Amino acid sequence: MKKLFEIKNLSVHYPVVDGIMGNIKGYVYALNNVDLDIYENEILALVGESGSGKSTLGNSILKLINHTSGEVLFKGENILNKTKKELKGFRKHSQLIFQNPYMSLNPRMKIYYILREPFIIHGIKDKKEINERIKKILELTGLSEDVLNRYPHEFSGGQRQRIAIARAIILNPAFIVADEPVSALDVSIQAQIVNLLTDLKKHLNLTMLFISHDLSVVKYISDRIAVMYLGEIVETAPKEEFFTRHKHPYSQALLNSVPVIGGRRENQKELLSGDVPSPQNPPAGCKFHTRCPYAFDKCRNEHPDLCRLSDGHYVRCFLFA
Ligand code: ADP
Ligand code: MG
Repeated sequence: MKKLFEIKNLSVHYPVVDGIMGNIKGYVYALNNVDLDIYENEILALVGESGSGKSTLGNSILKLINHTSGEVLFKGENILNKTKKELKGFRKHSQLIFQNPYMSLNPRMKIYYILREPFIIHGIKDKKEINERIKKILELTGLSEDVLNRYPHEFSGGQRQRIAIARAIILNPAFIVADEPVSALDVSIQAQIVNLLTDLKKHLNLTMLFISHDLSVVKYISDRIAVMYLGEIVETAPKEEFFTRHKHPYSQALLNSVPVIGGRRENQKELLSGDVPSPQNPPAGCKFHTRCPYAFDKCRNEHPDLCRLSDGHYVRCFLFA
């Protein structure tokens, strides 16, 4: 498998600024020494509770925010030290789909102009080419041509997300970050959008980082899973392997918290009791030890590395080191 992205030792620490004087009084350690590869034509799901650093990772590999240290190689080249001008090609080939399509679609623009905008930004002026591409993309995303003359507010959440997806893929990107793209939608609509994304991946050779806190959606769409906790990857595995042989106590806890149709799970342990510690003041040792039912002395004092269990399956936990 060819690597599209190689994320190396990537950290993002947001400064916390004192209100009046503007002094830096601490940092939010949102992302800490993340090492992760993304392979061509896979859907990699990034899961974890709210605040674990998922969006920070998605945004930093698109270079939409400043990083603190580390590298992000896209096709072998570090995009994090490129200039705006040098990034133009990369921008064309990488796109972001947000949770809330209301925010990403300009309310004052008709859909035709929303879909045309990426071409204008990238200096493509051939009207015939643009219109043909728009027509094609409407077909691919299950929209009819009469959407073009309407405004974003005239559509339901699901339709709006289709339009946002159409806009994101209209220049044929190689890579998409989909950041909780179905979390704001009704459950009945979620499946349609997930199906659309899966189809598009197949037809367009897309590679996707699919961010979600919902493992039931991830089970459907992803090829591989990466689990984040307090700004660290704690487990990665191919999908089947993850759902049958996940190892990290936090993965276990996340899976236990997925609702089961028809009632409670048997032997359910209340694993995720307790709050997520503040990323401004993360625990020493293993970051999960404050909530882990299996924690022992070493976990409180030493920080575990990611260790390899089998092909593609890595876990950051002393139980398996
Ligand atoms: P997730 O997407 O998993 O919910 P985020 O990446 O949005 O997590 O956030 C990770 C942590 O960083 C959270 O504690 C969040 O409050 C903090 N954070 C996110 N963006 C900023 C910012 N611009 N400035 C300061 N803190 C931030
Ligand atoms: Mg987020």
